[in-house]
Amino acid sequence: MAAENINRPEESKETKNFIEEIIDSHLESGRYNRVHTRFPPEPNGYLHIGHAKSICLNFGLAKKYNGLCNLRFDDTNPTKEEVEYVDSIKEDVNWLGFQWDAEYFASDYFQQLYDWAEKLILEGKAYVCECSQETISTNRTTPTRPGIACEHRDRTPETNIELFRRMKNGEFPDGTMVLRAKIDLNSPNMHMRDPIMYRILHAHHHRTGNQWNIYPMYDYAHGESDSIEGITHSVCTLEFEVHRPLYEWFIQNIGIHAPQQIEFARLNLSYTIMSKRKLLQLVNEKHVSSWDDPRMPTISGMRRRGFPADAIRDFADRVGVAKRENVIEYGLLEFCVRESLNKKAERRMAVLNPIKLIVTNYPENQVDMVTGVNNPEDENAGTREIPFSRELWIESDDFMEEPIKGYHRLFPGNEVRLRYAYFVKCTGCKKDENGNVVEVYGEYDPASRGGNSPDGRKVKSTIHWVSAKHAAELETRLYDRLFTIPAPDDAEEGKTFLDYLNPDSLKTITAMCEPALAEARPGQFFQFERIGYFVPDKDSPEGQPRFNRTVTLKDGWAK
Ligand code: ATP
Ligand code: MG
Repeated sequence: MAAENINRPEESKETKNFIEEIIDSHLESGRYNRVHTRFPPEPNGYLHIGHAKSICLNFGLAKKYNGLCNLRFDDTNPTKEEVEYVDSIKEDVNWLGFQWDAEYFASDYFQQLYDWAEKLILEGKAYVCECSQETISTNRTTPTRPGIACEHRDRTPETNIELFRRMKNGEFPDGTMVLRAKIDLNSPNMHMRDPIMYRILHAHHHRTGNQWNIYPMYDYAHGESDSIEGITHSVCTLEFEVHRPLYEWFIQNIGIHAPQQIEFARLNLSYTIMSKRKLLQLVNEKHVSSWDDPRMPTISGMRRRGFPADAIRDFADRVGVAKRENVIEYGLLEFCVRESLNKKAERRMAVLNPIKLIVTNYPENQVDMVTGVNNPEDENAGTREIPFSRELWIESDDFMEEPIKGYHRLFPGNEVRLRYAYFVKCTGCKKDENGNVVEVYGEYDPASRGGNSPDGRKVKSTIHWVSAKHAAELETRLYDRLFTIPAPDDAEEGKTFLDYLNPDSLKTITAMCEPALAEARPGQFFQFERIGYFVPDKDSPEGQPRFNRTVTLKDGWAK
C-alpha cells in the first residue's frame, strides 16, 4: 500500500475538520449553545462501512463537544423496511462502540408531520395534485426553462384540505394523487419545483401497521424530524446539498427550530460496493451467504470476518472529512485492521498446506513441551506450552528439493529454526511415483532447545510447525476480497458489478492447528504465525472452532 494512504489525507486529530469549524463558528456567534447530532439510517438493509463513517462522525462530534447524538430510524418507506434491519442497526452501532442518547423513529412523528402539512395547505403553501409521475416530471421541464403549472396548482385551500383528508382516510388508490409543496416552478433548483410531500401508499408499516394510507417523502420528513428532536447540526452526504434549500423552506414555513444541514463527501472504498440495493442483491441471489457473510462490506460482515471495532473507528478517523468525493484505498482499511490486530491477537501456529516433516533422530514416542510466547506486543498475554514430537506438519512451500536463488527455508543440507523448538537440518525427502514430495526428513539438534543457537551458528529462516499427532484439524475459511477490480460499480458496457465477483473470494480448507486453537472462542483474535489473522466464526460447534481469515499479514494486492 502506498505510504500516502497511511497518513491522514485531509485532517488530523490536531487540526479541525470543516464541520468542526462550522460548529465552532455557531457556538461563537451564539446561533447554538450546544451540539446535538443524529445518525439517521433507513431500516432497509444492514449497515455498511460507509455508514460506519457517518456513525463515527456524528457520535464523534457529539462526544467532542459534550453534546448529544440520537439514533433515528428514517422509516418513511414502509414497503422496504423491516424489524430485522432495525435490530441489526442497533447491534452494529453498539458494537462500533457508541451509545445513542435517544432512539426515535420518523414514524413517531407521522401525526405531527400530518398536522404541519394541513397547516401548509391552509396557508396556501401546499396542494393536492392528480397529475401522473410522468406529467409532474415533464411539467418541471429543465433547470434552465420555466416549469409549467398544472390545473391543480390553483385549487383553494378548502378543496386541498378536503382532498388531503380523503387521501389520508384511504379513499383513493395508490398513485392517484400526491400532496405537493407550492414553492417555485421556475427555480433553477429542480427540488424547489413543487416537490412532493406525501404519496398514497396502502402499505403495512413495521411500526404503525395499517394506520396510515399516506406516507411523507424523505425531504418533507427529514428536516422536521431533525427539528422536533432539537438537532443542531444535521450532517449528511453531499448529494443532499441540493436538497438543503428545501430542508430550510419547510422548517421556515412551518416556523420551527432550525438545525443546520452540513454535507460531507460519502465514503467510497475501492473493491467495494455500498449501495444497499446491490448488497441485498448479493444476498438474495446467493452470491454470498448472508448480510453478515465475512466478505460483505457490512459492519456485521466485517465483525464476523474479525475486523475489530477500534480498527474501523481508526479507519474512519484517518479517512477524515472531505468536501469532495474521492475513493479510499481498501488497503487503508486492511492496514488499520493489521495495526489493531498486531496489538491484540494471540499468536498460534497452524499449517494450512501441510506436508510431513519427520525428525529422524527424535525418539519415536517422545513428546516434549516447548514454550510459545502468546503475544510479543503484550507481555500480559503470557505463554503457552506446545507439544513437539517426531512427526510434524510444516507448510509444503517451506520445503524445496531444489531451492531457487534466495530460498533459505528447508532444502537438503540446510538448517532452519522450528519456531520455539529446535534447529533442524534437512536430510532429504520421499517422493511418490509422480515425483511429488510426500515426506521431508530432518535431524534436530537437542542443544538448540527453545530455538536458541547452541554455539553461535546462525540459521536464516524460522518456520512454523504443528506436531502431527497433537494437531487439531479445524475448518478454516480463507476469505479474500469480494471483487477483482477497484471500481466494481463502474462496470463496462454490458456488464454489471456481478461480473467482477472474485471467484477465489472463499476457499475452505482443513488446517492443522496446534492444540490450543481447539479452545478458541468467538470474540478472540489470533495471528497464525507467518500467515495472517484469524478469528473463530460465530457459528462454530463447541470445541471445534471454524476459523475465518480476517486478513493476511501483508497486502497481497499491492502492486
Ligand atoms: P443506500 O443508498 O445504500 O441505501 P443510504 O445513504 O440511503 O444508503 P441511509 O440508511 O439513508 O443509507 O444512511 C444513513 C446515514 O448514513 C445517512 O446520513 C447517510 O448519509 C450516511 N451514509 C450512507 N452511506 C454513506 C457513505 N458511503 N459514507 C458516509 N455516510 C454514508
Ligand atoms: Mg438514504
